[in-house]
Amino acid sequence: MQTCIICRKKKADFNDEHVIPDSIQGYYHINTVCTDCNSRMGSAIDNKLINHKFIEFQRFLFNIKGKSGSIPNPFSGTHHLVDNPDRKVVLEIDGKGNLSPRLLPIVPNFKKEPIVDSFIIQVDKKDEGHLDEIIDKIILRNGIDKQRLTSTKIEREIDPYISITLNIDTQDFKVGMLKMAYEFAVDNIPEYFNDELARTISKILYKGDFQDLVKKVLFFGSGFDKEILAPFQNLISFEKKNHYLILLSTKHGLICIINLFNILSIGIRLSNSTKYLKNDLLVGKNDLDDHSFKIFNTRELIEFTFTEMSFGFEYYFSDDQSRMEFELFSNENILSHYHDDGHIAFYNSSGQIVYRSLLDKLESLSSRSLGDTINEMTSEYDLDEELYIKLLPQNKLYRVIKVFASRYRINKL
Ligand SMILES: [Zn+2]
Repeated sequence: MQTCIICRKKKADFNDEHVIPDSIQGYYHINTVCTDCNSRMGSAIDNKLINHKFIEFQRFLFNIKGKSGSIPNPFSGTHHLVDNPDRKVVLEIDGKGNLSPRLLPIVPNFKKEPIVDSFIIQVDKKDEGHLDEIIDKIILRNGIDKQRLTSTKIEREIDPYISITLNIDTQDFKVGMLKMAYEFAVDNIPEYFNDELARTISKILYKGDFQDLVKKVLFFGSGFDKEILAPFQNLISFEKKNHYLILLSTKHGLICIINLFNILSIGIRLSNSTKYLKNDLLVGKNDLDDHSFKIFNTRELIEFTFTEMSFGFEYYFSDDQSRMEFELFSNENILSHYHDDGHIAFYNSSGQIVYRSLLDKLESLSSRSLGDTINEMTSEYDLDEELYIKLLPQNKLYRVIKVFASRYRINKL
């Protein structure tokens, strides 16, 4: 028996829970949600999000099929013509995802005039091919005597101007994002499950109680504004096709920032405690092209977005003579550091290796941060012992007093 992270009860049946719903191409699955909670949350919570107008538009633009196998139509429902409010029209999507209007037929009111010799119907040009079907249906439905019928007339409207009213939800979809944030945190920070606010959130998700949600003030931002993403703009490209989940510790506690299709963005307070993810952050990237969900920690994020570390040195010279010799030499040669096993080693004055990699030494020192941290991250270290590096091509030892370790930004996630 395993504990479900939503109902917090011991359960026997668990199945695949999509942290990011399948209908928006989520590739992040967990198996810590019981079957009951899973199916209940699918309809009560996920649907609020995946049927949000903004999400429907993205699914429509990227041809993302839902569970029924069809692309959602963000313009579903009956609309009317701008210059003729009585004329009803629907917007249809064909198999290729193209949107086109179809005027609904106008049929006379036969109740007023039950016995007819002829009638006029107005149909869309697209319905031309099955006019007989339409007419037969009208005849059958209204009990018209086909024998008496002498003529029918067809009118067409081409490329009409259509008036559409869309309802945009501004609250309920957020619970779908709260579910993602909670599951992402529980899955990656095991001790978070017992957090006070984690218990409150699982109760909200279990009950589907949206009123409680508003009271708790868990959200930063309206869900539509991008300001919340500003601190990450230099590291993450927030591409329209992708989804991003970012977990980080702030002075407000544990926060999850979610960006879906770069159209819905929100910050969610998951805990008031600052004890989780100290000095680290987790970025989950759901890649629609790659069909993958990958999680990056701070180190992996830096490795992906910045170059490998390169080093600069400040040397110590016992006299002006040796300084001048070095300057002359470094002007005429391209200096290269002596690499031992691919590492830059530190030597003592007699040429014996003290640290196989200078990083072993640097890790024990505190550093000062230089560079703009956006495109360059440089740490400056003062050495606290007498150490030398070997320089090629002359293979000579030089005493180092300062090390600069730099990375330069080359990529965005
Ligand atoms: Zn459960």
